[in-house]
Amino acid sequence: MERRKVTFKLYPSATQAERLTGWIRLHCELYNAALEERIDAYRKTDKSISYYEQQNVLPAIKADRPEFVELGSHALQQTLRRLDLAFQAFFRRVKAGQTPGFPRFKASKRFSGFCYPDPAGWKLMQSGTRGATIRIGSGKGAMSIRARGRHRFGDGAKPNDLTIMRKNGDWFASVTLRVSAAACARMRNGEDHRGVDFGINDWATFDNGETIANPRFIRSKLSWMADLQRQQARKKRGSIRYKRLGRHVAKLHERIGNLRREFLHTATSRMVASCAVLATEELRTQNMSRSAGGTQDKPGRVVRQKAGLNREILSAGLGMAHNMLAYKAVEAGTRLHVSNTRQLKPSQRCAACWEIVPKTLAQRVHECPHCGHTAPRDQNAAAVVLIDAHTPGTGVAARPKPLSRQRAKSKSGTRETPDTVSQDA
Ligand SMILES: [Zn+2]
Repeated sequence: MERRKVTFKLYPSATQAERLTGWIRLHCELYNAALEERIDAYRKTDKSISYYEQQNVLPAIKADRPEFVELGSHALQQTLRRLDLAFQAFFRRVKAGQTPGFPRFKASKRFSGFCYPDPAGWKLMQSGTRGATIRIGSGKGAMSIRARGRHRFGDGAKPNDLTIMRKNGDWFASVTLRVSAAACARMRNGEDHRGVDFGINDWATFDNGETIANPRFIRSKLSWMADLQRQQARKKRGSIRYKRLGRHVAKLHERIGNLRREFLHTATSRMVASCAVLATEELRTQNMSRSAGGTQDKPGRVVRQKAGLNREILSAGLGMAHNMLAYKAVEAGTRLHVSNTRQLKPSQRCAACWEIVPKTLAQRVHECPHCGHTAPRDQNAAAVVLIDAHTPGTGVAARPKPLSRQRAKSKSGTRETPDTVSQDA
């Protein structure tokens, strides 16, 4: 069994949204009360309270405050566990000699959500032709909330846990599914062997010279973002207009994130689907600060926004792309080869004669003084990693990154967004 995490956007009715907000408020209240209890106990008796001591008080709290009952006992326990984790992290860092911040009281406005740690108290339904429904709570008070899209793993997928999140005024449900390896498999329609070099001038360059340009949103949305931030800077801090623009900026950040994720999913799925062997190199952090300026003859296309944000967005995209390639390659049965950058030096090596040809970052063309081989810099690098992929005993292991906050016993897992079209095939 593999684990896959699928995040659905929720469309609660106004009444449902109000109830969800109320539930978050209660979870937040529990969190803050438990934190206060721990602080008090420590001050008065110099003793610390464990998670289990707090968990054992939950039935009494529910008897006293019946509004907590419909939240579900496991969900309440999970909120206490969340506090416990915050404390564990705090003490671990203190022990390591760092100076971490003490776990804080949280405002219910900023409390992100709550979690059902097991399949009890909620249900994911995908019975119709499109969309899914998330049912939370039990009995008469249960809520059936509409969700967008469907996951692609079919009826065999067993739901494991659910997190309800609120972000910029929107609601999301993140479901971890246990899926058989067969249900994870994805189609492959090609047997190509391709090397690929990721960069900033073009997002990807293949060894055969094909390229994938950086998506347009990087230019259009970023100038919009800069504009909003300039407007905000002119407003008085803390004023209504200042806050309103802050919300716009947050929304736009989210939008850019969504566009980026969609672009990366599409691009990596396509790459994996057409290749039996796909070669690339390790993620190099120093590359993330590579200038987008290009050269005088061939200037870069995103120079103006090069600083800060641009870099952040592109570089985060590269990490994400590597991750997606790793798990999608496993699902498609593609061999993903990741070259050891320091040993191989793909951008400095000649793909024809294997000699090292030093180049500055500004030199966009590889011209070999040893054998005369000439190719665009990134294409040459892609060709080098492909040769490396065909050389036995090279490369570093490419493994999908495990899901965060996952129980120890689970195997690897990856995140997905649901398809919004129904799967008839
Ligand atoms: Zn050469």
